Amino acid sequence: MIHKKIMLKDFEGVKMDEPLKKHSSYRIGGPAKYFFQLEETLDLPELAKIADNEGVKIRVIGGGTNVLFPDEGLDELVIRMNAHKIEIKDDILVAEAGAPLAVAIIRAKDAGFNCLEPLMGLPGTIGGAVFGNAGAFGKWIGDFVEKVQVFDIANDFYNMRKEDLAFGYRTSAIKKMANVPIICKVFLKLKRDAGILNDEVARASRTINQPTESSCGCFFKNPSGASCTVSKNAVLSAGKLIDEAGLKGFTVGGAKVSEMHANFIVNMGNATQKDVLAVAEHVKKTIKEKNGIDLEEEVQVIK
Ligand SMILES: Cc1cc2nc3c(=O)[nH]c(=O)nc-3n(C[C@H](O)[C@H](O)[C@H](O)COP(=O)(O)OP(=O)(O)OC[C@H]3O[C@@H](n4cnc5c(N)ncnc54)[C@H](O)[C@@H]3O)c2cc1C
Repeated sequence: MIHKKIMLKDFEGVKMDEPLKKHSSYRIGGPAKYFFQLEETLDLPELAKIADNEGVKIRVIGGGTNVLFPDEGLDELVIRMNAHKIEIKDDILVAEAGAPLAVAIIRAKDAGFNCLEPLMGLPGTIGGAVFGNAGAFGKWIGDFVEKVQVFDIANDFYNMRKEDLAFGYRTSAIKKMANVPIICKVFLKLKRDAGILNDEVARASRTINQPTESSCGCFFKNPSGASCTVSKNAVLSAGKLIDEAGLKGFTVGGAKVSEMHANFIVNMGNATQKDVLAVAEHVKKTIKEKNGIDLEEEVQVIK
């Protein structure tokens, strides 16, 4: 009997030449050769095998709120993680990686746990947050992670425990792995932390302090290693250094250093990746010359 091999382009739900600008809050990026919205993580082994057989690289995204895609697009399979079930049992919240972080925060709050509230307003999925240890107002998602379930083609599904995840400022062991596995499920240990910043205050503070134009949030890491929400005005915040260098409003093409928050490089409507990177290069060069500091990108620049 002859088995007909399924090709990636024929896998149900795979789209061809999907514009990536639709999947990044920067609204920048050319087409992905293959694009798949993953609703069910159990589809991963088969999809990954087909991609592997065809020699196609896989890249996973969540909400696309921290990725700057190339103008030329990607000759890859881009998987947008959309599996998003959340369950809470006792003090453990289990979320599929595509669950919006905001929904997890509300579910935890409704169950009587307020520990995640300072993270309210931080856009994106829980998987994306764990990848880069997203944080705000002195709290990090990594503070609450017990373990994650990940997938890679060599090892199938397996768990990584907190002690293996090496969370740091905007980093995790997963982010540093040569073959980044796909985060499928996140297990958080919830706490009742009376007296911390509540979700409404956290969200309101963003409305007041953050620009509304398209962006991926703070472009550079803070040299001080603190969240933008904490250290916009603190010593060694990237925003303060850029502001003091007089770079607010610096523009190349459609990209500009925000007038409202100097660590945001915003897309004024028609920016390309090249425009954003030209602004970023100028900022880095200026801060190096003026302050002797090498700013490092927080946004995941994909080339
Ligand atoms: C207005 C604005 C404000 C922001 N404020 C903050 C802030 O206060 N603090 C902060 O930390 N960040 C902030 N960000 C950045 C961003 O929201 C966070 O980094 C967020 O956690 C990214 O989640 P995401 O799902 O959008 O990830 P994406 O942007 O989709 O992906 C980011 C990276 O994670 C990887 N990734 C995503 N999902 C998975 C997965 N399931 N498995 C493996 N890898 C994965 C991607 O490959 C990529 O490298 C802000 C962004 C914006 C636009």
